[in-house]
Amino acid sequence: MSLACVLSRACLGLASPVVRVEVHLSCGLPGLTLVGLPETGVRESKDRVRSALLNSGFSFPQQRITINLAPADLPKEGGRFDLPIALGILAASGQLPEQALAGHVCLGELALSGAVQGVTGTLSASLACRDQAQTLIAPAENRDEALLPSGARVVSAETLAGLVAQLRTGKVALASPGVARPAEEVAPAQAHPDLAQVRGQLLARRALEVAAAGGHSLLLSGPPGAGKTLLASCLPGLLPALLPEQQLEVAAIHSLSGQVRPLHTLPPWRAPHHRSSAAALIGGGSGLPRPGEISLAHHGVLFLDELPEFHRDVLECLREPLECGVIRLARARHRVSYPARFQLVAAMNPCPCGLAGQAGACRCTPEQQARYRQRLSAPLMDRIDLRIAVPPLPLSTLTVSSEAPEPSARVRERVQRARDLQLARDGRLNADHDGQALLHALDKAGRDWLSRAGEQHGLSARACHRVLRVARTLADLAEATSIRRQDLSEAMMFRNAG
Ligand SMILES: [Zn+2]
Repeated sequence: MSLACVLSRACLGLASPVVRVEVHLSCGLPGLTLVGLPETGVRESKDRVRSALLNSGFSFPQQRITINLAPADLPKEGGRFDLPIALGILAASGQLPEQALAGHVCLGELALSGAVQGVTGTLSASLACRDQAQTLIAPAENRDEALLPSGARVVSAETLAGLVAQLRTGKVALASPGVARPAEEVAPAQAHPDLAQVRGQLLARRALEVAAAGGHSLLLSGPPGAGKTLLASCLPGLLPALLPEQQLEVAAIHSLSGQVRPLHTLPPWRAPHHRSSAAALIGGGSGLPRPGEISLAHHGVLFLDELPEFHRDVLECLREPLECGVIRLARARHRVSYPARFQLVAAMNPCPCGLAGQAGACRCTPEQQARYRQRLSAPLMDRIDLRIAVPPLPLSTLTVSSEAPEPSARVRERVQRARDLQLARDGRLNADHDGQALLHALDKAGRDWLSRAGEQHGLSARACHRVLRVARTLADLAEATSIRRQDLSEAMMFRNAG
């Protein structure tokens, strides 16, 4: 056999399409040609494959070798095709029966020694293989990740020689997860601060509950030391546990960025630094775009502390994902989209020195204050439903032993009930609700009230729709069937309190 075909899988967002690695040996000057528009990384694989084959005790055919990676238009980045190329050369040169590879898909980078090294995105490949009843040959380093989807058939490869020895016998050993590993149950209290630790701050506690219940974005504004970060980091603990398919999706995104996240029920929490690059925050990088923080926060919380300090261009990129829960990244030849349905919590000082609002303490000029606020564009601010001021706590709150604050677990029960109501009624959370439909559902008195209040505060129609979404969440928390006047006025207060 001088022609062999081995299956592999590429990374395209969360998808993992099949790539056929075709190897043809023919007469002519010995040499190796790769076709199928491979990226530079794949070109380098020629040398790795050759060394790995020789160092594993195989012979390298002294013929003309043509390798085609098909289809041509898929991104083919990194060393993930080393292993299929090496197996293809072995099959084409008769050193491995080709039928030994039937029904298998393989991935893996080769070290010069022949050791199989880990690659990114193994989880997506494993999900795709499971759905098409294929067995995945994956690097031993990625074994745990490959085994996350239940029912996945995985062969764990440590070295090229070891793998080929197994394949030759026709009996490959499937990796087993060992002890049954149910989705790791992590009590939210262990991972995130609990609201029981937050004394006072009644408005902020209420805002967190509303944000969690309706999926709304939240901005906390207050001087340093007021507890904004503590409040924000309580939010993941108020969200419902991730469902099994959400856990897999979150783990698959992490796998694409080269991080391993075991399956567990806790929503992700990401808090990138304000000096993060656009690529780190939004996604990108050289070659095939990688998911950024906003995608790593999918189904969870993205916390941006010191919001005005973030690069304005980076913040503007948040608008699309905040609106539609997806980020589309384009590089020279490839377009990739990643899910990014995160909940945004941002924090900021009220002015550059942080002390505005405290009697006589702020030394900023009105111009400095205005410039500081202008760093946040109106369209971005428009997408933040809840804005509140977090004042410094009077010392008495800390010392006087008052009633113990309500713990996160109790708040989470109300959040869950309010979310169940929304999902049963509309199939989505209020933050994603159609504002126009909510407006039609309002009675005439309610509509009049809203248009008057909107005018008074100079709100756009989009902003009024956002007020309605928050009002719907407030009604759901109270288990009220329709939006009441008190919900409207509380929602309006949340829009203007920051
Ligand atoms: Zn100031």
